[in-house]
Amino acid sequence: MAKRAARVKTDMAEAGPVEAKAKAAKAARPTLAERLPALAAPGTGPGDASPSAASSWREARNAAARARLEKSLPAIFPTSVLRHALARPLAPPTPRLAVESYWRHHILRADRLARALAARSGQPEGWTWRLGEGRPDTRRGAAADEDLAEKGLPFSFRVPPAPFREAPHALGKGHCCVCGQPVYRFGWHRDLWGTGTPNRNAAWHAACVAAWKFWIAPADHVKELKRRQGHRCAQSGKRLLRTAEVDHRVPLYRIWREERARPWPALLGYWGLPNLQVVNRAIHVDKCAAEAGERASMRRRAAGPGAGDPAADAE
Ligand SMILES: [Zn+2]
Repeated sequence: MAKRAARVKTDMAEAGPVEAKAKAAKAARPTLAERLPALAAPGTGPGDASPSAASSWREARNAAARARLEKSLPAIFPTSVLRHALARPLAPPTPRLAVESYWRHHILRADRLARALAARSGQPEGWTWRLGEGRPDTRRGAAADEDLAEKGLPFSFRVPPAPFREAPHALGKGHCCVCGQPVYRFGWHRDLWGTGTPNRNAAWHAACVAAWKFWIAPADHVKELKRRQGHRCAQSGKRLLRTAEVDHRVPLYRIWREERARPWPALLGYWGLPNLQVVNRAIHVDKCAAEAGERASMRRRAAGPGAGDPAADAE
């Protein structure tokens, strides 16, 4: 546990180091070359030895993007993000895009950070995990808006619970609706600029947006997850095939059924890395069939003895 806490702490530090040089030269606003000499220098890319039409186009476009980025970059900017931006095949042209790109490409770090930030906020007083009653398409118009208690509720247990997205617990602008913590410039999670106040125009951390996308569609990040498992199937230990699939170790319907009362920041772990595994497709098919069987027998039990459900029996 202590080890994990230390890792989270390290991640947070890595994600947000204040460049000492930039801090010292706050007024001067260092150039890209001064900030990161090795990466900002032109003519060091792998394609530079034999410039083709495509690479000259890329170079020209990158030079323009870097010029735009340099112009809008504040004196203090996370070094890790800048290093990432300048190493992209096509450099993001604004600080905000650089931050977004950074988290999109460090999805597992974003997942850990978002859960660590949520743990800082804790579960809001009086909150319990609930699902919305109606379907989104039947809740159009004023009727849906009037019911504040229902506003912001997820409609499925496949979406992670997010208390601060629900109207009664919303913290308002300047706070992240995923984790509840203050949001600073460029959607950053730490006040690197010492402004002391959150960015009133922001409602999400860039890291939390990336984490949220990961939580609701982890299959989009199968590559990162495979790499993390050393390309071995989490169940059989055999080499992962190209058709391998992302699986929730504990299926989400069971979280809703059995773990619903757990405190909120801990709940998020079931959508994140701690509950995700990549398994070969044949194994996943068997696991899904077993889970479907379990759900069918649950439905039959719920229907009571003698209340035969032919549809459930047929599954
Ligand atoms: Zn957040």
